[in-house]
Amino acid sequence: MYLYNSATHKKELFVPNDPNLVKMYTCGPTVYHYAHIGNLRTYIMEDVLEKALRYLGYPVKRVMNITDVGHLASDADTGEDKMLKGAKRENKTVMEIAKYYTDAFFADCDKLNIKRPDVVEPATNCIDSYIEMVQKLLDDGKAYFAGGNVYFDTSSLEKYYVFNDHDEEDLAVGVREGVEEDTNKKNKNDFVLWFTKSKFEDQALKWDSPWGVGYPGWHIECSCISMKHLGEDLDIHAGGIDNAFPHHTNEIAQSESYLGHKWCNYWFHVHHLNTDTGKMSKSKGEFLTVSLLESKGYDPMAYRLFCLQSHYRRNLVFSWENLDNAVVAYDKLIAKIAALKADGQVDEAALNALKERFVGALNGDLNTSLAVTAVYDVLKAKCSDATKLAALADFDRVLSLNLLSAAENLRKKEAEEAAASADPEIDAMVAARTEAKKAKNWAEADRIRDELKARGIEIIDTPQGAKWRKV
Ligand code: AMP
Ligand code: ZN
Repeated sequence: MYLYNSATHKKELFVPNDPNLVKMYTCGPTVYHYAHIGNLRTYIMEDVLEKALRYLGYPVKRVMNITDVGHLASDADTGEDKMLKGAKRENKTVMEIAKYYTDAFFADCDKLNIKRPDVVEPATNCIDSYIEMVQKLLDDGKAYFAGGNVYFDTSSLEKYYVFNDHDEEDLAVGVREGVEEDTNKKNKNDFVLWFTKSKFEDQALKWDSPWGVGYPGWHIECSCISMKHLGEDLDIHAGGIDNAFPHHTNEIAQSESYLGHKWCNYWFHVHHLNTDTGKMSKSKGEFLTVSLLESKGYDPMAYRLFCLQSHYRRNLVFSWENLDNAVVAYDKLIAKIAALKADGQVDEAALNALKERFVGALNGDLNTSLAVTAVYDVLKAKCSDATKLAALADFDRVLSLNLLSAAENLRKKEAEEAAASADPEIDAMVAARTEAKKAKNWAEADRIRDELKARGIEIIDTPQGAKWRKV
């Protein structure tokens, strides 16, 4: 499989450290509010990546954190804590907020067929690991204590900006967004590993530490949770592109300084879901959730298809019109699958040819839009319906669009509707009219048609025979 690696800025052949276990880490949600459908685009594409790896034969262990402490509202690592903000907004404790929105997040994931990672670890579970990492960084001279906080010293690194080739000044924390610079810092990119003092309102959750009672910085949780469950060598680290800087940049800085060697080989970044006014974001106030889509009558599967139709490294523009187009495409697809008959033999050679296209799409930097095209290719292929159904079931292990179950549900619904509107007397009259027509008894055929019309029934002549409907 070829994957684009943000750390090397090119597509690379994916070679795991151990082909018997791909180690994958995903930045989890900050559970201070509902996930918006932009966040969920990232989780959908990460889910597809994990499923594609499994499909291609790699066992995968995937770990995700839940940020329930220490995610600051500003990239400059000095803003108000998002969890605290959520708790104040809803008059609840931070832990109540965390529990409520963690459950809401996984409920949304279920609706979108996003598999739960093998390990899900809340940040508040791992305080001892953070303290241990911070202590080692201090002991090794990679961190310093100033003004009550422990900072990572970015001047100890040979290279800080891993993901981009931008001018340092453009990205400098504290220069962007007019954020007031923290005067404790020795270098403008230094970031907090452990807080005991923040100029913002005090944290609700605090722990004892060698540097005083305090709480961790945001970035350290991902380094420690990843190492706790996946060890010192990570194959793939995934997240939204907005996390590349500073979050992932800082994760690499502290992890590699702590370990003394390279930490993660492949960085997988999903680009943003945008609206006509730019990136969908919670801080803008108005954002779209899965529940909101459902309340407007949208099937979450249509949103999943909408995401799969575009490449993960392209920004995706959300509009109701675009989503409506995905609904039409999804409904048509399911109707076509519902029309397939489960009889006949599976032609293994034909099935393998269909799979080859699908695998080719996944191998080409997870090209999900081509993978969706491979689904249409199945429907157009000259092979038995049984072969087509086998291919669709196989592809859906990765796509997770409920291709077969939604088609089955549609068939059931149509059968129920047909049964609900069945009327043996009318069926008999329609059959009598067909017989009269066969016998060229046009007067009788017309008489029956007129009688049915008077009873509010319209006959429709189709190539499969006469059908009727209530008008
Ligand atoms: P958060 O809950 O804010 O920590 O974000 C959860 C995930 O969603 C992270 O991987 C972010 O990078 C990602 N994300 C945030 N906004 C968007 C967006 N508009 N489109 C796609 N992914 C996003
Ligand atoms: Zn992270």
